[in-house]
Amino acid sequence: MFETVIGLEVHVQLNTKTKLFCSCATSFNHKQNTNTCPTCLALPGALPVLNKEVLHKAIMLGKAIDATVNQTSYFDRKSYFYPDSPSAYQITQLYTPVVEHGKLRIDFEDGSHKTIRINRAHIEADAGKNIHDGDISKVDLNRAGTPLLEIVSEPDMRSAEEVILYLKKLHSIIRYLDIGDANMQEGSFRVDVNVSIRPKGDEKLYTRVEIKNINSFKFIQKAIELEVARQKEAWEDGVYDKEICQETRLFDQTKQETRSMRGKEEAADYRYFPEPDLLKAVVTDEMLEKYSVIPELPDQKMARFVKDYEMNEYSASVLTSSVEMAHFFEAMMACGITAKNALTWLTTELQGRLKGEMNITNSPVNAEKLGHLVKRIEDGTISGKAAKEVLDFLMENESDVDSVIDTLGLKQVSDTGAIEAICDAVIAANPDKAEEYRSGKDKLFGFFVGQVMKESKGSANPQTVNELLKAKLG
Ligand code: ADP
Ligand code: MG
Ligand code: ZN
Repeated sequence: MFETVIGLEVHVQLNTKTKLFCSCATSFNHKQNTNTCPTCLALPGALPVLNKEVLHKAIMLGKAIDATVNQTSYFDRKSYFYPDSPSAYQITQLYTPVVEHGKLRIDFEDGSHKTIRINRAHIEADAGKNIHDGDISKVDLNRAGTPLLEIVSEPDMRSAEEVILYLKKLHSIIRYLDIGDANMQEGSFRVDVNVSIRPKGDEKLYTRVEIKNINSFKFIQKAIELEVARQKEAWEDGVYDKEICQETRLFDQTKQETRSMRGKEEAADYRYFPEPDLLKAVVTDEMLEKYSVIPELPDQKMARFVKDYEMNEYSASVLTSSVEMAHFFEAMMACGITAKNALTWLTTELQGRLKGEMNITNSPVNAEKLGHLVKRIEDGTISGKAAKEVLDFLMENESDVDSVIDTLGLKQVSDTGAIEAICDAVIAANPDKAEEYRSGKDKLFGFFVGQVMKESKGSANPQTVNELLKAKLG
């Protein structure tokens, strides 16, 4: 009877080398307040100059979400005071953003999909950080002036599920384009969730609340559920108009509630006006052409994997779920192995061995090594079982595949002569058992196979052993 209506504002920190309007470095692991200069400290007289790299990344995003890139856009000044913003205003783009009218496709598990419209993506400067330390609050301005792209969706999402699908898709696009780290925990991908409800069938938008800066997909889901329940309850109790107002709310993960943080300001409260210290931002034809050529995106890569490697959609979606995973798989394939084996050895064998803090980016066995290992199975050098031993060894020790195969003596013997000699020796050493087998005790066959494998230290090709023993024992 009710319908949930959600629109998202996502702040993506761009991974440019320098800040938006000055040449300070954007890296954060520096001593506090050292990546600063008169411009990002907002000292009187210092003037901002636009970092072109920011436009390049905005064009790439615009292309990826099928949006209009405005070749001329403008900066506006949004006034507000907060200790982490020394200028007491933020430079942003209100009236004409660099990117407008995009869209993003989300795919449901049942194979259906939906398009979420993106209203705009605009450039703005990040603030510094307030650090609260007991009774004292400190300000670190290393982050002040870092470039952000704020990506604003239309209120097109109808459930927490759709929100998570949208965010995961957007996140993976940012990573595929490599325009930002998009790390939610570190704050380089920050999500504000706008939530309202309405009677199903109603077209108009009701009062929304904005829930700010929730730093995991799990918490976003929870915050939406809690907020929707609160609004529905107010409606059903007949106190909707009294209790639901346009405001900014905070998600409290310990108390499992959203609560009011501040009344929502209207645009007028910010006294927006065109930024007088900056020229318009111009995307030249040349720039547009150059940066519209973007890397393959997750959807396209997935479709290509299905087609080129004849794998099912599920496998392809696992392999393209992150850019790191996709690149790992592709680097394995460059070793000239089959997609089927690359898939299993990456998703089952390697990932099964990545424990704790380990992931495929910092894995001790990289794509080239793993690809090489699979190659050694496929060319008959080692058995699949031996390859697992090699992988175990490489997870713990720095070495290369071929040396480990040698050191551990795992090379598979397919040379019939060598195996035949072992078979003969084993039969000769066990005349009684050979006799028993021949007179009908079939179970003993396994004993002979076991002995031959043992003598060969597991290196004999089991199929060859079976065939030879069958022939010799009659
Ligand atoms: P503002 O500039 O005041 O933040 P916007 O109109 O830009 O407001 O909207 C901000 C976000 O809120 C957008 O993502 C938009 O889709 C979403 N939104 C607007 N109205 C509603 C609503 N009634 N319910 C849910 N989301 C909404
Ligand atoms: Mg807003
Ligand atoms: Zn600076």
